[in-house]
Amino acid sequence: MNEILVTRSSLPSFEEYCDEIKDLWDTRWLTNMGVKHQTLQKKLEEYLNVSHIALYTNGHLALENAIAIHNLPKGGEVITTPFTFASTTHAIVRSGLVPVFCDINENDYTIDTSKIEELITDNTVAILPVHVYGSICNVDEIDRIAKKYGLKVIYDAAHAFGVKYRGKSVSNFGDTSMFSFHATKVFNTIEGGCICFSDSTWVMRLNDMKNFGIHGPESVEYIGGNAKMNEFQAAMGICNLRHIDTEIRKRKKIVEHYRKRLGGVEGIKILAEQSDVDSNYAYFPVVFDGYKYTRNEVFEILEKSGIKARKYFYPLTNSFGCYRNYPTAGAEKTPIAQHIALRVLTLPLYADLEIYDVNRICDLILE
Ligand SMILES: *Cc1c(COP(=O)(O)O)cnc(C)c1O
Repeated sequence: MNEILVTRSSLPSFEEYCDEIKDLWDTRWLTNMGVKHQTLQKKLEEYLNVSHIALYTNGHLALENAIAIHNLPKGGEVITTPFTFASTTHAIVRSGLVPVFCDINENDYTIDTSKIEELITDNTVAILPVHVYGSICNVDEIDRIAKKYGLKVIYDAAHAFGVKYRGKSVSNFGDTSMFSFHATKVFNTIEGGCICFSDSTWVMRLNDMKNFGIHGPESVEYIGGNAKMNEFQAAMGICNLRHIDTEIRKRKKIVEHYRKRLGGVEGIKILAEQSDVDSNYAYFPVVFDGYKYTRNEVFEILEKSGIKARKYFYPLTNSFGCYRNYPTAGAEKTPIAQHIALRVLTLPLYADLEIYDVNRICDLILE
């Protein structure tokens, strides 16, 4: 029985990667913003069509740096959603800020923008929305609210690499967007991430901040950590970026097939295509609501056949044990997010998943 995991990392051919890293044996320059790092940065600025990119060793540290660059006052409130990966909420709390959880909307599971304003107080400093599964937030409405109240907007765009809204790269919205290049994401550098921004005064500061705050041989200007992307990661990114459009096209085909098989079945809810959005088909979430099997039953049916789906996102971050005594926590405060988290399953999806296997998965769910 061949096992199917929920995802499978994209890799260039072995030869292509070896070719790319060969010169590292001549230069012996393995990290600290070397040639590969600079090359990938430039290529990504072009691909994502943004003024500036800063690369990081992972998406989480990219997000922490995207928050830190704003110098937000400690204890400030950040409006966000609990329907996300642990990283988002942890980044806010680890930055000395307070997450205030807004519910999501039922259509695309991103932040419900009609509920943001009622959560704004004198202590609100920023909005940190999450693009989920390759769908994007209502960026226009978030922009309007942020301008009206003078709030920063930091997007967790970990799921949205290459997504476009009205032909414009999604990385251009808000003050900053963070992308993750983790092995499981649409585009990977093994581990890695970046932030996108337009303010050129940030370039030097962000560079210093990710290298212990060291500005020059004898000057340290920030209390920075270490978050640099190394040359082997960057080399993987250079290779994978060559194939990214093909990868996304293949994913689209698989998603279209899933849609054909599972769309219109009573009790099974699949995500609608967003208008004006070119998705990257990062995930295929299915919500089992009133279906003959519950989400957990489907999970087990698939598992018995060696197919690993994922309860993602579940549990909500506002019900994590580590936030048990946190004043703003509690899944009951975000009922729609809770409803979806209890019923959603993301099905296996990666570029070289066979249509034969998609059919096998759908047969198991439908039979
Ligand atoms: C993957 C992910 C992150 C964290 O990225 P890493 O590169 O794994 O550190 C943050 N937010 C979301 C929504 C993610 O899916």
